[in-house]
Amino acid sequence: MIASFDYVIVGAGYAGSVIAERLARGLGKQVLIVDRRPHIGGNAYDHYDDAGILVHKYGPHIFHTSCKEVFDYLSRFTEWRQYQHKVLASVDGQLVPIPINLDTINKLYGLNLTSFQMEEFLASRAETRDPVRTSEDVVLNKMGRELYEKFFRGYTRKQWGLDPSELDAQVTARVPTRTNRDDRYFTDMYQAMPKYGFTRMFATMLDHPNIHLLLNTDYREIKDVIPCKEMIYTGPVDEYFDYRFGKLPYRCLDFKHETHNMPQFQPVAVVNYPNDYAFTRITEFKHLTGQEHPKTSIVYEFPQAEGDPYYPIPKPENAELYKQYQALAADTEGVRFAGRLATYRYYNMDQVVAQALTVFSHIAGVNRAEALELKKMPKITTVTFPAVAKKPGRMVGAALSAS
Ligand SMILES: Cc1cc2nc3c(=O)[nH]c(=O)nc-3n(C[C@H](O)[C@H](O)[C@H](O)COP(=O)(O)OP(=O)(O)OC[C@H]3O[C@@H](n4cnc5c(N)ncnc54)[C@H](O)[C@@H]3O)c2cc1C
Repeated sequence: MIASFDYVIVGAGYAGSVIAERLARGLGKQVLIVDRRPHIGGNAYDHYDDAGILVHKYGPHIFHTSCKEVFDYLSRFTEWRQYQHKVLASVDGQLVPIPINLDTINKLYGLNLTSFQMEEFLASRAETRDPVRTSEDVVLNKMGRELYEKFFRGYTRKQWGLDPSELDAQVTARVPTRTNRDDRYFTDMYQAMPKYGFTRMFATMLDHPNIHLLLNTDYREIKDVIPCKEMIYTGPVDEYFDYRFGKLPYRCLDFKHETHNMPQFQPVAVVNYPNDYAFTRITEFKHLTGQEHPKTSIVYEFPQAEGDPYYPIPKPENAELYKQYQALAADTEGVRFAGRLATYRYYNMDQVVAQALTVFSHIAGVNRAEALELKKMPKITTVTFPAVAKKPGRMVGAALSAS
């Protein structure tokens, strides 16, 4: 039994797993990862449901990045399935592409506009807002009230429990409008899904004799009994400090998973429902994974005020509250804070990987390119690592379970 570790890492999501992999493989450190969930992968965890269909437990995760470094790094642990994400919105009884493009407008209004005419169409409807402060301002400024009502207002109110006029401009600022027929949801250089799923990718990443895993365990249960030289904390930062300044507000989600006795439920992976129903969208997983199966599994997402933390609520007062925690975190010796919950940011997976690699490069005292090269894994060897704890409290991982 190992008496102590160089690092205890709280959280087996992207932030914790990437740092663990680099510390163990790159620097030869002994690492213990603790997660209170019964599985690795954090929110990106996927698994086969009762029907044998690969599903994402915490909602659809689509990998996309423009950062070659991040893509190359993850490619050490998985092969990929090329995938271009497409989303449709159910509006006025029709399914139309989102982000709004030329086909969206033509289909919705029964028109036959060209790209140039669509620009004129949007310009003629746009309501000038100066200054552009809120999400409502952004959309009205771009396309006017009617399209705002059809596509954005209801969706935003469901998603955030707030009217777009109450939300920072940044929430809708990154939603593009296209005057061409490009119906891809993302336009990043690299868009792909791990060939055997996210959990298998994490399992391969964590398959190292120096990495020890303790699932079903809150780090507070072990922090006084398992000594370490340094901790990497990827859980909620307000929780770490016992909510000293109050709770950081999050929007939560309730997921309703279903399996249907039909090969296909909807034409694309995700259909948004901006105006009808209490859920925001339905995802059909087989589009994402390419799995062939006579049945199909879907998930509905119901935004909630209470529950597990998913989306930091982008309001200035919340950013101010976070700054207080950030200052405390910066003054806490022996603990580094990384990942979406510890830095109160909505990050995509690639951004968390990039942030984690940066944290590791600081630990290693080298630049990021060098940090990536430290004893890198020579080739992909996907493994079947124990990704899910069978019993509550069971320790999994090489050295610990061998003791
Ligand atoms: C619905 C939804 C859809 C998304 N879709 C996409 C997408 O399509 N593409 C994309 O790029 N990104 C997507 N994301 C973002 C993606 O989920 C995150 O970027 C990523 O999961 C963040 O990884 P992380 O390691 O920071 O956090 P997490 O994955 O949340 O991992 C943190 C881990 O820490 C553990 N933990 C917390 N506190 C403790 C404690 N006290 N003790 C022990 N363990 C603890 C948690 O159990 C968790 O497993 C989506 C997010 C959501 C909510």
